[in-house]
Amino acid sequence: MDFEAVEMAARGLALAIMGRALAGRLNADRSDAAGARLPCPCGARARHAGRRPKTFTTALGEMRLQRAWYHCGACGKGFAPRDRALGLDGGSLSPAALRMTGLAAARASFAEGSALLRELAGLGIDPKSVERHAEALGREVADDERRVVEAEPNHARTLYLGVDGTGVPVRKSETEGRKGKRPDGSARTREAKLAVVWSAESLDSQGAPTRDPDSATHNAAIETAACRDADAEPPPFARRVLREARRRGFESAERQAVLGDGAAWIWNLADEHFPRAIQIVDVFHAKEHLFETAKAIHGPGSDLAQAWGRRRRRELDEGRLDDLIAALAAHAPTCEAARRDVGYFSRNRQRMRYPEFRAAGLRIGSGVVEGACKNVVGTRLKRGGMHWSVDGANAIIALRCAVLSNRFDDFWERRADSGNSAASQS
Ligand SMILES: [Zn+2]
Repeated sequence: MDFEAVEMAARGLALAIMGRALAGRLNADRSDAAGARLPCPCGARARHAGRRPKTFTTALGEMRLQRAWYHCGACGKGFAPRDRALGLDGGSLSPAALRMTGLAAARASFAEGSALLRELAGLGIDPKSVERHAEALGREVADDERRVVEAEPNHARTLYLGVDGTGVPVRKSETEGRKGKRPDGSARTREAKLAVVWSAESLDSQGAPTRDPDSATHNAAIETAACRDADAEPPPFARRVLREARRRGFESAERQAVLGDGAAWIWNLADEHFPRAIQIVDVFHAKEHLFETAKAIHGPGSDLAQAWGRRRRRELDEGRLDDLIAALAAHAPTCEAARRDVGYFSRNRQRMRYPEFRAAGLRIGSGVVEGACKNVVGTRLKRGGMHWSVDGANAIIALRCAVLSNRFDDFWERRADSGNSAASQS
């Protein structure tokens, strides 16, 4: 017996039977024809115009529903009250089918997502439709994230807030007029900025603090971080960081650490909003600076560059910032990168007291922030042949942040609540 074939056929049959039963029940219930006239969204009154069929893709397969139809003479549009009541007013996908589509597209490419939905759930949704539905859902998730900031319980003594950026390959039209890193000065990417909050109360086998499993939440978007006007409210990404911190109870944690790449705006934000937080330059970024400068001074790939870089990184690890800055200063007259680094390491030296931080049991090097950038953005958005619109990228990033931060369930609860209340009001 080909049991796999039997299982699949039986599942298909079971879904079809249940789907037909549910559709039959809904179609027999005609209570959605609530009077001869109903208010239209345009403000006029719509007239009952019989029942109309529409086919929806649901978790039970294709379902043909007959719904009371109201037509508005004033705006020429029509609507079915039941669609709104059941959460079917967004298009041709039922809420459960939309949820599956969003989850698939958060995890895999649109084409892979479409194939998974067919294989695992028996849903026929082509890649283009997966993209359209997932991006619409992602925009809803992003909007929900901006509106709802609910405090989540925190039991950790120390909370970490890390901020970083990573490039997302975008369509040409999204980089017009922007300076890039390519030889002709054009840009191929836009920077997605990411905030991650986590705790690290557990210790690894060497006794060093290590990230607690499932403690990291992510929040990211391609948006502005720089402040252009001193009087204006914080720029969009700064507000995103503050929302994420508030959600996690960062301000009320006994000990707080902010990890950044050295960009001034994050320290300004920390000074203003988290005055108790210990500011730490992510050691990964500090070392990256030294790698680049070693190449600039001694030539890429040379033994001299390697040895010079190794010595500087050791000085950094051991907290010998005076020696490090002096070594950089020696090359400052002839090397632009060294000159810039003198400024970078001098400006941030209080944030690079790594031996002191380590002794206090703090995490200084964030595999966590690095990893979050790769996990949230890289593995989904930076794959071969991908060219995003900023809007589409932000929708999928929002979806992915919700899924990876274990907030997707909460979003759906709120979505169902708001849909039901909207339906009961009408
Ligand atoms: Zn109307």
